[in-house]
Parts: sequence; structure tokens; C-alpha cells
Amino acid sequence: MHLLRSTATALLAGMLLACAAAQADEDGFYLGGALGGAQQNYDATTFDAHGSQTGYKFELGFRPIGYLFMTGTESGETALRDAHDLQRSLGVDVDWLSPAEVMDLAPYVNRDGLRAGTFCAGDGLIDPHGVVSSLWGEAKRLGARLLADTEVLEVTSSSTGVVVRTTNGDILSEYAVNAAGPYAGELAGRAGIDLPITPRRRNLVCTEGFAGMPEVTPMCVDSDTGVLTRREGGGFLIGYSDAHDPPSFDTTFDPAFLDAIAERIGNRFSFLANLPINARKCWAGLYPETPDHHAIIDAPAQAPRFIQCAGFGGHGIMHSLAAGQAVTELIRDGHCNTFDLHPLRLTRFTETGGAVETAVL
Ligand SMILES: Cc1cc2nc3c(=O)[nH]c(=O)nc-3n(C[C@H](O)[C@H](O)[C@H](O)COP(=O)(O)OP(=O)(O)OC[C@H]3O[C@@H](n4cnc5c(N)ncnc54)[C@H](O)[C@@H]3O)c2cc1C
Repeated sequence: MHLLRSTATALLAGMLLACAAAQADEDGFYLGGALGGAQQNYDATTFDAHGSQTGYKFELGFRPIGYLFMTGTESGETALRDAHDLQRSLGVDVDWLSPAEVMDLAPYVNRDGLRAGTFCAGDGLIDPHGVVSSLWGEAKRLGARLLADTEVLEVTSSSTGVVVRTTNGDILSEYAVNAAGPYAGELAGRAGIDLPITPRRRNLVCTEGFAGMPEVTPMCVDSDTGVLTRREGGGFLIGYSDAHDPPSFDTTFDPAFLDAIAERIGNRFSFLANLPINARKCWAGLYPETPDHHAIIDAPAQAPRFIQCAGFGGHGIMHSLAAGQAVTELIRDGHCNTFDLHPLRLTRFTETGGAVETAVL
């Protein structure tokens, strides 16, 4: 056992978000099997912005395949219209599509009952492992240290600093950042902080190779069932987030997921219904979910030096740089200038009102 004294900040566990924070902080740590979607409405462009500020070139492997949402219900159309209007008001270049325009972009989907769609050509895919490697490389260059095979057991904080108790000794630091993803609630709980983060298993499958289709397709999202699909490795990747999945830390692939997909795939993607699934390309990971499906970035009143940065659900990769920037400013300046963190405050869960994200992919 040894004692490590960090000059400024101990970043706990969350590789992705912690690397993002470490990188901007200059002091100073799995991706849950993410599929790497990056949407402008979720801040994909911060990678470019950050790169131009720091001069650092991120190796993201970004592929702008576009995100195509479609619906065949009245309520789905209203929700899509609201999202579209909000996104455009915030400067996102997203188009409203008629059924014929949806079919132009994705002629293989079922047209029956289709009412409308939206398409954002600037959305696409990044390579999750590339993002982590890239961020880690830069963090290391700036002096961050990684303690491998080290579990954080407990964090105790005072008005002047924190003690992080780990399986590899204690770390004394001015600040600690809880970026433990699905485990962040447990870790915060040991410090007396009620962080409402629930682990939810999310499954993905890929079909066997399928010829006679475009090699690249947009990410197609059936808003009415929640099923999404796009080209992957010669076949199609298929995903679906079941809102009724019970909380779990289990990351083994759930065979019942295949039944859930089979029930829904025919609504918009009948062309996939009879394709064989590639058993080697089925996997599951954890979404760290909050009750409103938005993240928490806050310095809690009872432990302001134990910063909470977790609960990113299915959008933690695209949010990583923005989150790192926010945490950096909280520590360095005592508040965040770049973003309004008020909507992400921890106390919102004890208040009424607030926006609940309904488009959980
Ligand atoms: C199937 C799937 C698809 C996804 N698709 C996308 C996508 O398309 N786009 C997107 O942006 N996001 C996607 N995500 C979400 C994304 O993976 C997460 O939001 C992101 O990984 C959260 O990052 P994090 O750093 O907070 O936590 P994590 O990446 O979960 O990292 C937390 C780490 O902390 C470690 N840890 C926990 N407790 C302790 C402890 N006490 N001591 C030491 N270490 C500890 C864990 O072992 C883990 O390594 C997807 C996730 C899944 C499961």
C-alpha cells in the first residue's frame, strides 16, 4: 500500500470522461460496448471545436453517415416535429422529410403508414476506442497518470480536499471526479451522496453479410418501436433500448433480446426479418441511466470537492469532451462558463418539473 499525493485532481474510473477531463485539466482513471453514434444534437462537433482550441488532432474515424428518424404515428410525428424545431432553433442542420423523401434516402424501409422523417446529414459514427486512445494519449502527454488494476473503495472529503481510498493505497487530492459510469451511484453512495444512477443492460446484434444493398446506409431509427439499424461489416447492426429492462450489472448478451427485436423489426425494417444473426457479433453493455435520461455534472453541496460526472446513458461518447470541459471549469474556476450546468444539477431530482428525454436509443 502506498500514499499518492496528487497536485490537483484525482479522476476516478471513467476512462472516457476522465481522459477528457484530464486532458483539459493538465493534471491528473471500458467503454460499455458502445456503437459509436455521434449526433450533432448531442454535441458531436465539440471534438472539432476542442481540437481547434488546443491544436490537438483527434483520431476519431468520424464517418458522417447521417441519422434518419422516421415515424408512422400521429404522436410520433408530433414528437419528431418538436425535436426538429428545437434542434433547428439551436442551429442543428436537420431536415424535415416527407414519406417520399424518407424513401429516397432509405428505399429498403417499409413505406406503409409512413408519415414523416428527419435527417441530419452531419450526424454519424466515431470509433469509440479511437476516441479513448486519442484522449488518453493527449492526457498522458500533459502529465496524467493511470493506475491500472486499482479499485476505488471510498472517497471522503473535507472543505480543503479529498482522500481517495483504493486497493492500491490512498490518494490525497484537492478534488476527485466520480466518472465511474454505471457504478457511479454506488461510489457516491459510499460518500453519503444520493446519485440516482441505474445500470441498464443494452444489447446489440449484427446480421450475417447481406449483398445487394448500399454499402453505406444512414443510421435508420424507427421512432415508433425504438429499433435502429445501419450497415456494419457487410451485414446490418440492429439495436433497441427496452425501457422496461430491469436494472442490472449483467453484461452478458440477453437471448430474449432476439425475441424483442423479432416482434418489432417488421414495423419498418421487414427486409431484415429473415436475415441470419451472426452469433459472434451479439454483445451487451451498460447504460448508466438517470431518471430523466440526462447526465449529472455537479459539485454537490455536501461534498463540493467530490465532483460528480456520470449518468450519460447512451450518449457518453459524444458528450465526453464537453463533459470534460465542464468539469475542468468547475475545478479551475469554481463554475462552468462554457455551458449552463443548471439543467444537469443533482438537486433536480428532488424538484418538480424538468425535461425528461423520451428518445432513448
Ligand atoms: C450497447 C451500447 C451502445 C452505446 N452506443 C453509444 C453511441 O452510439 N454513442 C455514444 O455517445 N454513447 C454510446 N453508448 C454509451 C457510452 O458507452 C457511455 O455513455 C459511456 O461509456 C459513459 O462513459 P463513462 O466514462 O461515464 O463510463 P464508462 O465508460 O462505463 O467507464 C466507467 C469505468 O469505471 C470503472 N469503475 C467503476 N467503478 C469503479 C471503482 N470503484 N474503481 C475503479 N474503477 C471503477 C468501470 O470498470 C469502467 O471501466 C453506448 C453504450 C452501450 C452499452
